[in-house]
Amino acid sequence: MKYVEVILPLPLEGTFTYGVPEPLEARVQPGVRVLVPLGKSKTYVGVCDSRALELSETKSAGKQADGGKKVEYKNILSVLDDTPVLLPQQLKLWHWIADYYMSPIGDVYKAALPSGLKAEEGFKPKTETYVCLSRKFRTEQSLHIALDCLRRAVKQQEVLMAYLQLSGIAENPVALTIDAENPDDGEPSELNAVTQEELMNAAHCTMVVLRGLLDKQILVTYKKEVGRLNNDGNAHRDTIKPLNEAQTEAYNQILLQMLGQKVTLLHGVTSSGKTEIYIHLIQKMLDEHKQVLYLLPEIALTVQIMDRLKRVFGNRLGIYHSKYSDAERVEIWNKQLSSHPYDVILGARSAVFLPFQNLGLVIIDEEHETSFKQQDPAPRYHARSAAIVLAQMYGARTLLGTATPSMESYYNAQQGKYGFVRLDRRYKDIQLPEIEVVDVKDLQRRKMMAGPFSPRLLSVVREALTNGEQAILFQNRRGFAPMVECNTCGWMPKCPNCDVSLTHHKNMGLLSCHYCGYTYRVPEACPNCESRDIRNRGYGTEKIEDEIINIFPEARVSRMDLDTTRTKNAYERLITEFSEGKTNLLIGTQMISKGLDFDKVSVVGILNADSMLNYPDFRSYEQAFMMMSQVSGRAGRKGKRGLVILQTKNHDLPVIQQVVHNDYEGFYRSLLEERKDFRYPPFYHLVYVYLKHRDGDTVNSASLEMGSRLREIFGNRVLGPDKPAIARVKTLHIRKIILKLENGIDYKLVKTYLRQVQEAMMKEKRYGALMTYYDVDPL
Ligand code: ADP
Ligand code: ZN
Ligand code: ZN
Repeated sequence: MKYVEVILPLPLEGTFTYGVPEPLEARVQPGVRVLVPLGKSKTYVGVCDSRALELSETKSAGKQADGGKKVEYKNILSVLDDTPVLLPQQLKLWHWIADYYMSPIGDVYKAALPSGLKAEEGFKPKTETYVCLSRKFRTEQSLHIALDCLRRAVKQQEVLMAYLQLSGIAENPVALTIDAENPDDGEPSELNAVTQEELMNAAHCTMVVLRGLLDKQILVTYKKEVGRLNNDGNAHRDTIKPLNEAQTEAYNQILLQMLGQKVTLLHGVTSSGKTEIYIHLIQKMLDEHKQVLYLLPEIALTVQIMDRLKRVFGNRLGIYHSKYSDAERVEIWNKQLSSHPYDVILGARSAVFLPFQNLGLVIIDEEHETSFKQQDPAPRYHARSAAIVLAQMYGARTLLGTATPSMESYYNAQQGKYGFVRLDRRYKDIQLPEIEVVDVKDLQRRKMMAGPFSPRLLSVVREALTNGEQAILFQNRRGFAPMVECNTCGWMPKCPNCDVSLTHHKNMGLLSCHYCGYTYRVPEACPNCESRDIRNRGYGTEKIEDEIINIFPEARVSRMDLDTTRTKNAYERLITEFSEGKTNLLIGTQMISKGLDFDKVSVVGILNADSMLNYPDFRSYEQAFMMMSQVSGRAGRKGKRGLVILQTKNHDLPVIQQVVHNDYEGFYRSLLEERKDFRYPPFYHLVYVYLKHRDGDTVNSASLEMGSRLREIFGNRVLGPDKPAIARVKTLHIRKIILKLENGIDYKLVKTYLRQVQEAMMKEKRYGALMTYYDVDPL
């Protein structure tokens, strides 16, 4: 019997050994999926590991149960693929991530493969439900009767109206009559059909309401198979824009650096045309028949970049991120394995897992962005690091681009580990915005703040709106979750499972926990003192929106935050509406800071810089500097110089002045000193060890024990254990131990010791249910 190592989508260390029945032998190879049994009754879709090739005849030396008894291995049940779904590089990347980030390979599997490839049944062709008018009502006259009949069913009437608008019938009812004259009965004609989704979105209606119209046989639905990948990219192709002098110089420098360096950092101010340079580099790769992976931190950004790239590269461009449906992701995955893969993939974090046949270049745009790191669940990997490793496997080059490099990347460039190219000039020499600091402390003392707004901010926003220009108001997410509070006794609703206050979602009348998803209706009376005086607290974006609408009733306000961007097309809609001027005042969280390129924004307001600066974390200044610089970069891109109003209580902090003067170098140097003194990256690597347990006392003693065991090995590299800021999540108590590891330490050995300590602890009965996990290079 031969055996194969299989990766299963389970949060367990290592691979699993299975026997390969002889008839299946020829089909088993690394990267193919196999169906395997586990335990008494479960089956899983596993992936054959690279060691599958070394089908060993004598497996007796393999895994052994305690006591040296030979283990009986189960057999694989079937082989699901004729050719691998993972190429060798992808498997190698999985192992690198599992190893470097100390997370089970099963977790990497779960993060990497779209669910459609993890499930047994594969995926079904996509059908979409369309809605059209039933034949009986395809005359103006009958339609009026229908609308009339619905007088008492206002909701249904609204839906019908929405349908008539969407389908174009409202504007051009003539088409109806023509169709009614040619009844070919049976199948509903596709005339004036709209998708059900489109209709329900437009009418804000529920299925129940739509059902009413279907039951009355006014509207009918039918299903139609559709391709998921929208390949209409050839419609209006743009030619590549020629680079200006400064950009050409940077482009040539990049190519030069890439000759000798695997990774190159492009430090280019906002609006210098980095994206145009990327486009030229991509074209060069395509000319050389190489593929390109273009990574962006968040989907918010992809909308604009996607449009720009689509216009140039048409259907050679594929897009891959988490807001795409799983089935769409399966299609892209399969296409990348086919003989006609996309040449360019634009994607968020998870796109590093896609198979590439001939990768030549990886571009990591906005490389400083923290959302490249996956926080929860495992694997807690940084897509920038993973992408660099991936590129090296292909002998490809990596380009990091940003206006505000991360400390790590800038340090690497300074040390000569990365190539470095600077681009100081903005395209068309548009001036950087003027940044005006407003002293909130002083204004508060003089009682001049109108809630979160200073008089100066309100007056410049008013001026912008009057001039037909646009404004952006930025509120940091951190520390500004809107909450409710009893005004009589101070009671605040807390999550029963986590140590956090519940966030208030006013439009839904709900309180919810952002950690475990627990939701709770806003009570009418305080459960503590029965007072009915329950008030909002905190300035979330929603509240800011409310107040801004009161102050500027004529403004066309939109809001971009987690709540308003849950659906796939929401970002796109909000951004398009704003770029087209349909809205003129955009309120948002970090999402709006990301490389968006708007023409008519003359004012940007940073409502509260302090919440970013005061956050208890060694990265808070770095984060604050980058966020403020990036948000400021949205002001005044074309035409005239923009204005940024920066509201803070700490106007004399050096970092505020560094933002004002766009002084990245100064900021970097001062921070670097601090990082060195306090043993932080880029001089040290951090590893956080987390312990979780239902019982507070158990986690306490376990973490103390682990702390002292680790100290025996690592000495004063160990800090803690400590309670993290949020010390209980999903009913589990948490402790955290920090390791500070100097550059050059034998990292492999460190991990071996960490594992040994963990295993030793797990052997103790009282720590049976203890969960231990690691965050390597935490952000
Ligand atoms: P960055 O990515 O550095 O912030 P962008 O690439 O978004 O800058 O460029 C800013 C704006 O200037 C965009 O609207 C872009 O189309 C325009 N632009 C930059 N370079 C050129 C060029 N060479 N030709 C035409 N337009 C350009
Ligand atoms: Zn109360
Ligand atoms: Zn919770």
